[in-house]
Amino acid sequence: MALTTINPKAPNTGTGAGDLFQYLRNGQPRTRSELATLTGLSRSTIATRVDALLDTGLVGAVGAALSSGGRPPSTFAFAPESRTVLAADLGAAHAILGLTDLAGNIIDHLRADLDITNGPVPVLDWVVAKFTELLQRNGRDASTLSGIAIGVPGPVAHSTGRPTKPPIMPGWNDFDIPGTIQQTFDVPVLVDNDVNIMALGEQSLSWPDTENLMFVKVATGIGVGLISGGALQRGAQGSAGDLGHVQVPGGASTPCRCGNTGCLEALAGGGAVAANLAAQGYAAHTASDVGKLAEDNNTAAIQVLRQAGRDIGSVLAMCVNLLNPSVIVLGGRLASAGEHVIAGVREQVYFRSTPLATQHLVIVGSAAADMAGVRGASMLVIGHVLAPDAVDHLVMNRTAAMAT
Ligand SMILES: [Zn+2]
Repeated sequence: MALTTINPKAPNTGTGAGDLFQYLRNGQPRTRSELATLTGLSRSTIATRVDALLDTGLVGAVGAALSSGGRPPSTFAFAPESRTVLAADLGAAHAILGLTDLAGNIIDHLRADLDITNGPVPVLDWVVAKFTELLQRNGRDASTLSGIAIGVPGPVAHSTGRPTKPPIMPGWNDFDIPGTIQQTFDVPVLVDNDVNIMALGEQSLSWPDTENLMFVKVATGIGVGLISGGALQRGAQGSAGDLGHVQVPGGASTPCRCGNTGCLEALAGGGAVAANLAAQGYAAHTASDVGKLAEDNNTAAIQVLRQAGRDIGSVLAMCVNLLNPSVIVLGGRLASAGEHVIAGVREQVYFRSTPLATQHLVIVGSAAADMAGVRGASMLVIGHVLAPDAVDHLVMNRTAAMAT
């Protein structure tokens, strides 16, 4: 199934089952009678559509509701365990892959070192092999798969799933990731920036009712996943949230790999803070080394992380004034090494942002931690495959298959 066959904005001209399914999607069991009352549809229409949903397996019977007499009416509920989603969070040097159900519950996952600079063909071959392993070792057939999502460490044209000039992914520019994965798995394949999917994962786990959230990843690079007005904001070319190359106000004019000077990443990214510590004589080469030193209560590491937090906070203060988020979540290797980065961010954001914008602003560490990406990738697929049109497609495909 090609991604372009489903347009969530097109008028729903399908079976009506997809619209009915939305009433069951929150997991609350319903009777046919309750569904008729909720939708205003006739009992016979409801019966037809419930049967169609039962046939897909998305909905299952869950016993009997209490009745005032006679035969108890059957009750139905969303059955998220009926189908599966595969999710991959690919970083610059590591990967986490997961198998989830349609509620985003993680059934199984695996972690591995992975060098994204090996290029798309070997990396995606490996991803497909590990996806197959995840299905097999959990006794799930590929026919249970609803969709796949992959997060990559660079900008992505979301409509095509192709990376757009990703600076740390040589060989990946405009590569057809969905088409490659679909040679093995014939399901919708969605691709997005890794920080975008982390924002979705954190929101689904800890802030499901929050419509304005910023997820800031502080690791080798610094990026933001922005959820505004309830929707992920990707921008015109998929590069929204690339905060690493904003100039730090009043910061040092350190040269950056992008060609500019004084960028946030050049001052507060993993390479910069590691170089700062190395110059002081500590064995620090990567963001991970800095994180370990801080976790060992190394004073110099704590000081550079606190300053990195201030630099990040001074840039975030502008974002807060512009976008008025209610939650800022800080994740990534440097933010997870104690509260040092977060403390520096809070210091600057509360100092420099307008009082109204910070009145109810919460700035916290990530609760989803390193599973934010896998969880968010799964949520991306679930949002896509459980939309009314997609459910209608599933119903129509079942009907067509039974007619032949
Ligand atoms: Zn730069």
